[in-house]
Amino acid sequence: MNPMNLRIGEGWDVHALVPGRRLMLGGVEIPHTHGLLGHSDADVLLHAITDALLGAAGLGDIGRLFPDNDPAYRGADSAVLLREAMQRVRAHGWQLVNLDCTVVAQAPRLSGHMPAIVQRVADCLSIPTAQVNVKAKTAERLGPVGQGHSIEARAVVLLAHV
Ligand code: MG
Repeated sequence: MNPMNLRIGEGWDVHALVPGRRLMLGGVEIPHTHGLLGHSDADVLLHAITDALLGAAGLGDIGRLFPDNDPAYRGADSAVLLREAMQRVRAHGWQLVNLDCTVVAQAPRLSGHMPAIVQRVADCLSIPTAQVNVKAKTAERLGPVGQGHSIEARAVVLLAHV
């Protein structure tokens, strides 16, 4: 593998945690008292992954590709947006080497949901689960995440040009 044909990308996202919404993380519905607020399904993890992919391929960001003032994306399934972004990345000749992510949430506990989340993310990207790693942390009760007002996600991807 020629190192000149590698590109790294990072993505970050945050959404407010509010009552009366479904909590979608990594394309998996997580039972909880609150859900994430947003124009789409507000899947903070899939948004971070989408931005990391687009960033690595030099294709801008999720807001440019799927504007949040476009009614077409109201309530949008973020898994569909991620698949679309991955298709564009592949169309530019890039292949995903690996993806590493962190979800920062004070609640609910996510460890039990990780196998389902990793499987779903890998399915959306059409890659083996061995290329996907998702970690969960709390914010030690600090800041808006730690006080349960929001959930954050970060993602890093490595792409290779083929
Ligand atoms: Mg978002």
